[in-house]
Amino acid sequence: MIKAQRGTKDIIGQDTLSWQKIQQNAKEIFQNANYSEIRTPIFEATELFKRGVGDSTDIVNKEMYTFCIGGADKNENSITLRPENTAGVVRAYIEHNISRQSPPQKFWYFGPMFRYERPQAGRQRQFHQIGIELFGAKEASADAEAILIAQEFLGSLGLNNLEVEINTLGCQKCRESYKKAIKEVLKPYIGELCEDCSVRFEKNPLRMLDCKNENCQKVFERDEIKKVVLGDFVCDECKAHFDEVLGYLDVLGVKYNRNKMLVRGLDYYNRTVFEIKSSALGSQSAVCGGGRYDGLVEMLGGTPTPAVGWAMGVERLFELIKKVEPKKLDYFVVSKFPKEALKLCQKLRRKGLSCDFDMQNRKFAKQLEKAAKIANYAIIIGEEELEKGFYTVKDLSCGTQEQRSEI
Ligand code: ATP
Ligand code: MG
Repeated sequence: MIKAQRGTKDIIGQDTLSWQKIQQNAKEIFQNANYSEIRTPIFEATELFKRGVGDSTDIVNKEMYTFCIGGADKNENSITLRPENTAGVVRAYIEHNISRQSPPQKFWYFGPMFRYERPQAGRQRQFHQIGIELFGAKEASADAEAILIAQEFLGSLGLNNLEVEINTLGCQKCRESYKKAIKEVLKPYIGELCEDCSVRFEKNPLRMLDCKNENCQKVFERDEIKKVVLGDFVCDECKAHFDEVLGYLDVLGVKYNRNKMLVRGLDYYNRTVFEIKSSALGSQSAVCGGGRYDGLVEMLGGTPTPAVGWAMGVERLFELIKKVEPKKLDYFVVSKFPKEALKLCQKLRRKGLSCDFDMQNRKFAKQLEKAAKIANYAIIIGEEELEKGFYTVKDLSCGTQEQRSEI
């Protein structure tokens, strides 16, 4: 028997109702805040992710589903299933000259992402993300709105007590001095760090702090290293921006924790970065991750454009929310005359009422039994009803019956 691939899941039956609710709430909340939907392709040129996500990230180094169409040597045909959606949205933003419209331009998306990771609780190889991307506003109000929208969306799903962690990475300039300081203090410990971290030490030292390896985390917990990590490297401008963001969050009633260890896994972030977590999720506790990425549009060939966005893992949201109960149908047509039954269904469905009938034309009692299970009312079309032209409508919650000429 052929089974679903490792790290993929079928979404079936009642579970789909919760998925629909997540999508419906997202659509309403984002549209109310003037975000429009964007649907980009599931695969893109590999180069887009190498440049847009970053050569030193786990995603690009280990997790991409990459295919070479027309033979492995034809590198120009190398395509990759999207591991995240910011790079694709930015590509589309540039390609369609969206920057010419008046800023800010606000987008939201929903769709599958693909990462070749070790499957475990909260980690799949095909998973789904909901996200927003906001282009053209460098102001702190944009960072604040992005975080607020995430919180409002989570609130609409009954998730009111998730923890927002927030940090600032500063700009390119502050990051350089931060990187230098971190490299200096970590140099004596390189031997104790994992292999990935010794690569990161050279390529992107900040990313070391994001390492999931316990030994590495122990090293970072050492006093002399913590002192540097928790030190202040942001320039006055970046600090003022961050303070303003926090000021907005205070006014909006968004609670947060400053976490100076938070650096996020992707290369493109600057200034504000944040994560939203739930302790109910166990070891993969992050539901949402995002931040500002002012350099990405330019790096991918567009005009310099400030931007901020986030992505949420839908499977993790699904784990957290109260499951949606299925609703009963309005009507079930009970009849030994399937043509009449389907004709009535056609009429009722056109009116927007939900109904079904028994295709197998089983015994009357069996049909009534099924009706009681799945519908609020049974509409009975027996011989007498057909002859005299009326319907018998049975309220399945109390058993009372009445005759009606019309439904
Ligand atoms: P992690 O540190 O857990 O690997 P990440 O930094 O790789 O997270 P992002 O790229 O920021 O995650 O993705 C945003 C959100 O998407 C995560 O917070 C999580 O909810 C979800 N997510 C990421 N990877 C997976 C996966 N493999 N399976 C399910 N959900 C995922
Ligand atoms: Mg990851």
